[in-house]
Amino acid sequence: MKVKVISILEDNYMYLVIGEQSHTAIAVDPAVPHRLLEIVRREGLSLTAVLTTHHHWDHAHGNEALVKEVPGLRVYGGDDRINALTDKVANGQELKFNSINVRCLFTPCHTSGHMCYFVWEDDCTDAPAVFTGDTLFVAGCGQFFEGTAEQMHHNLTKVLGVLPHETKVFCGHEYTIKNLKFALKVEPENEKVKEMLSWARARDDEDKPTVPSTLMEEFEYNPFLRLSEEGVQKFTGKTDPIEVLRVLRKEKDNFKKPKELLPPQAMLAIQWGLLGASSR
Ligand SMILES: [Zn+2]
Repeated sequence: MKVKVISILEDNYMYLVIGEQSHTAIAVDPAVPHRLLEIVRREGLSLTAVLTTHHHWDHAHGNEALVKEVPGLRVYGGDDRINALTDKVANGQELKFNSINVRCLFTPCHTSGHMCYFVWEDDCTDAPAVFTGDTLFVAGCGQFFEGTAEQMHHNLTKVLGVLPHETKVFCGHEYTIKNLKFALKVEPENEKVKEMLSWARARDDEDKPTVPSTLMEEFEYNPFLRLSEEGVQKFTGKTDPIEVLRVLRKEKDNFKKPKELLPPQAMLAIQWGLLGASSR
């Protein structure tokens, strides 16, 4: 099973899952539809399904154009608000597209209808993959727009955290550096966080994605999966895992990267309005 990682928009990812035997392709969150179709055509694939993690436009907005251009295309998701949805799926439901298997994992919180997808191929020794949308990020987790800390705790520990540890994690955004800077604030002594941060910076310099990670790796540096670690509890001042998570998310919401030091010419240019202050 091959997963093509396609960077789109400011920092989103859409994915193409390709069955090695069948040349079947399924798309995950294809928000830039024509770019996706170009790849599908170039590689001689047949696109059979779209899996949408949640209804936000930067994940679901391409569905309508795809359905128009690909006759018979099915669009799966867990929320009626998803653009061009054809098949609403439920927790634990399994789908099969030739040799590719998908298990739908309901993970409400970022949105109330958020779905993650656990994917594997028959007769294939590759590690399985999980598409986590805006629920679990490399080194972070999504904002609680339509849910509670209790729900996210359930998602992280009972739904995603119990998948095989070698599972590859493909998330919805490239937020890794920002997430790791926060992780370092939470656990300044965590060597894994430091290692990962310098690796992620090197990837960024080369314009390369930091996905996928593995679930096993996430347990080592992602503070949102380390709720019972002493350092994380100390940072939050809590011990109950749900309370630790609640405080952690709140702190992350308020986390701003320290202002970078700019050379004096740049400072002058900003003062004179010649350069916009970047948000990145
Ligand atoms: Zn979102």
